[in-house]
Amino acid sequence: MQLQRRSGTGPEQAVRRIVHTLGHRYRIGVTALPGSPDLANRARRWAILVHGCYWHHHPGCKRAGLPKHNRDWWRRKFNENTRRDARKIKALKALGFRVLVVWECETRDVGRLRVRLHKWLSRSNG
Ligand SMILES: [Zn+2]
Repeated sequence: MQLQRRSGTGPEQAVRRIVHTLGHRYRIGVTALPGSPDLANRARRWAILVHGCYWHHHPGCKRAGLPKHNRDWWRRKFNENTRRDARKIKALKALGFRVLVVWECETRDVGRLRVRLHKWLSRSNG
């Protein structure tokens, strides 16, 4: 799944912009960490994953639909992606990181996302 490696996509940039304006420092695409989280601060031990609703199959999201053809294949594919994401999150947590998943569709409401990120980031200490 190469697409999820793409950096600088709209949703990711929206999250970066907000985290930046909230005054938090971060690195992007941190390859030294499991799953190369989109944003991470190793000193403060937090990581943010920005997930496209389609590829990561956002549960209950209208953007996470199955294509009409080869549905079983796609279902398996999306299940694999979901499992991989779960493994990533588990591995990060095992290293003592707090992990936040932001879905693509959640980046449309910037005001709401900003509040959420602010709350989540202000809980991190150290
Ligand atoms: Zn979604």
